[in-house]
Amino acid sequence: MINHKKTNTVRRVAMFSVHGDPLAKIGSSQSGGQNVYVYELSRWLAKTGWQVDIFCRWADKKIGPKKKIGRRVTVVRFQAGELKVLPKEDFLSHLETFFTHFLTYKKDNKIQYDIIHGHYWDGGLLATHAQELLKIPFIQTFHSLGYVRNNTLKKFQKLPSGLEEEKFEKRFEIEKKIARKADRIIAESPYEEDDLIRYYDVSNNRVVVIPAGVDTSAFSPQDKQKAREQLQVERESRVLLYVGRLEWRKGIGTLITSLNSVIKKDPSNSYQLIIVGGSFNRNGDQADTLEYRRLMKIAEEYHLTDRIRFEGSIPQKKLSAYYAAADACVVPSYYEPFGIVPLEAMAMKLPVVASATGGLQFTVLNSETGLSVTPRDPFDLAEKILLLFNEQELRSRMVANAHNRVIHDFNWKLISRRIDTLYQQVIKDSKP
Ligand code: UDP
Repeated sequence: MINHKKTNTVRRVAMFSVHGDPLAKIGSSQSGGQNVYVYELSRWLAKTGWQVDIFCRWADKKIGPKKKIGRRVTVVRFQAGELKVLPKEDFLSHLETFFTHFLTYKKDNKIQYDIIHGHYWDGGLLATHAQELLKIPFIQTFHSLGYVRNNTLKKFQKLPSGLEEEKFEKRFEIEKKIARKADRIIAESPYEEDDLIRYYDVSNNRVVVIPAGVDTSAFSPQDKQKAREQLQVERESRVLLYVGRLEWRKGIGTLITSLNSVIKKDPSNSYQLIIVGGSFNRNGDQADTLEYRRLMKIAEEYHLTDRIRFEGSIPQKKLSAYYAAADACVVPSYYEPFGIVPLEAMAMKLPVVASATGGLQFTVLNSETGLSVTPRDPFDLAEKILLLFNEQELRSRMVANAHNRVIHDFNWKLISRRIDTLYQQVIKDSKP
């Protein structure tokens, strides 16, 4: 174990998290798990002594180009492309400008970075440039793998359009380059590790499995009835909760269909679905709005509009009340690289029903820490939701196991220490 506290030098990491601004409004189509991950990892790394600079694309005129999070973490935003939210798939043409800003920033501030941490494929591509030009080693966290994502789209017959396919090909090439060049890759679950080895030809000695964590001081058990009063949720109703971005691959359409089955099978109880996430409006044409309209249509077909509440995106600080007010958290994704939402629910002692896909298979162990369902199977999902309500003993056991597991395995303090050790190892190995 390396103990950097014995040395007096400040260690510096530059994170490239182009669309994942840790201080952005979370829950819209362009911001979710990556933003939360970068925020938590940085503030915990700072506690272990790291000076962290996070480089993001400037996307909001109302906020400035630079902001500190505590003493040791700085968020630096570069203007690359229009100063507004753009689909992250369209960043490629702006990355050169972004990198030039980075070099200028580094030079003007006379900063030497010990290591780079690339996030997603855009941040990873910048990290390869830094590695080549500045000879700084780099670590990569993908957060999502293009190959697996595209395969999921194809598997469920939502065939990508020609343009999407073209973007995917480019992304896949870039991801393969990052996978070849990175000094180490952090896979967030053993499933992601397998995908990296199988589809990206990464040797297993360059992949390290380190999951994301959850902030257990923000997400801890609370009084249900109090939360229901606060959110104006009926005392007696059975509440299902979805938290996350409004995106087709998140499977919210399947969840609405399964709600219809649940109500048919158990008409004597009053079921409600609360959907948290998405920034949409009635007339917009943004991805969230299009998905919102599609979901509303499904809800209308089943006459379920009065059973579903669309809350829009809710800041992290206010989210715990939603978990507290609910009876079950449903994660119906078709593809989920990791999934922080189930961890938040588990930390709040809320039972989870999740698709058996990607990282969810690592966090939600069937009948142990939650219930697993076949992705995109509304009938299986309905059955498992009913099982949760009908089997009190199973429910209590799973909630206790899940809570324990979160405290031990998904604790940011321990996770950030593992990443700290990894950074130091890579720096040491890169020295001639
Ligand atoms: N989230 C939030 N407000 C919302 C919707 C989501 O703060 O309105 C957060 C949620 O609590 C979680 C993250 O966004 O921390 C979503 O992460 P996850 O890994 O589950 O999904 P991803 O966005 O990576 O697909």
